Amino acid sequence: MTLRRIGSTEVVRVEERHGPGFEPQQLLPDWDPAVLAEHAWLTPNYYETATNRFISSIHSWVVRTRHHTILIDTCVGNHKPRPQFERFNMLDTPYLARLKEADVAPEDVDFVMCTHLHLDHVGWNTTLKDGRWVPTFPNAKYVFSRVEREFWDPAMNPDLPAANHAVFEDSVAPVIESGQAHLVEMTDRLGDNLLIEPAPGHTPGQVIFRLLDTGQEAVFIGDVMHHPIQVYRPEWSTRVCTDPRAAEASRRRVLEHCANCNAQVFPAHFGAPHIGRVRRQGQGYRFEFDNGDAA
Ligand SMILES: [Zn+2]
Repeated sequence: MTLRRIGSTEVVRVEERHGPGFEPQQLLPDWDPAVLAEHAWLTPNYYETATNRFISSIHSWVVRTRHHTILIDTCVGNHKPRPQFERFNMLDTPYLARLKEADVAPEDVDFVMCTHLHLDHVGWNTTLKDGRWVPTFPNAKYVFSRVEREFWDPAMNPDLPAANHAVFEDSVAPVIESGQAHLVEMTDRLGDNLLIEPAPGHTPGQVIFRLLDTGQEAVFIGDVMHHPIQVYRPEWSTRVCTDPRAAEASRRRVLEHCANCNAQVFPAHFGAPHIGRVRRQGQGYRFEFDNGDAA
């Protein structure tokens, strides 16, 4: 279990799924296989040669501050029909048992924070109970950006393809209906030490979360980067980015910020050890993975 401290705050990783995901070319249209020779470290933790697939992790970050228990990004969820993605369709994983191993019961969660509203970031917002999708975390406020909600809500964005309706309907609408949604602006804050900042491009309303504690900083970057190769190739946006050029601009801004302030970076999908720090290298950046020894 990944455990890190930022001042008095503790961060734990709770896994839903880890293993081969997309083929590189499927995820990154600009992919050049030559980088595999140039970056031998990609194999095997971030790329699997036998299947020609990226290794991808789907996990949440549990953040325990002195006052609150916060869950960042809620994976795919159980029993959700996602026919367009075989890997995510009708999952049945022990995610809640793993959350319990991290000493978190659903009623303990004060804030659920979604960097954006893609299916692999909102799934455990809700669970199926007596045939209805209900909030999994009964005492939580669910935090996400107003811009993101307006984009993915079929009632507010009639141009949204029908294939995208289900995720909003089963994983976001129920927490709005229960009165638990806490919509934030692209630049906003929760209390004194949790800052919300814009990172649009992957989706229009994606935000990152910056946690500040006693002079240290942790940045939860959502899908600003899916894969560590994007630290080295920030110009490579994914096929599922709504605005690839804006995604690149957000990525460069976040990389620059994280390098400048020596932040601990907590991505949503990097393979083990999942976290690290951004360092400058020549005109660009490199990623220094944090193997840690705290466990
Ligand atoms: Zn994602």
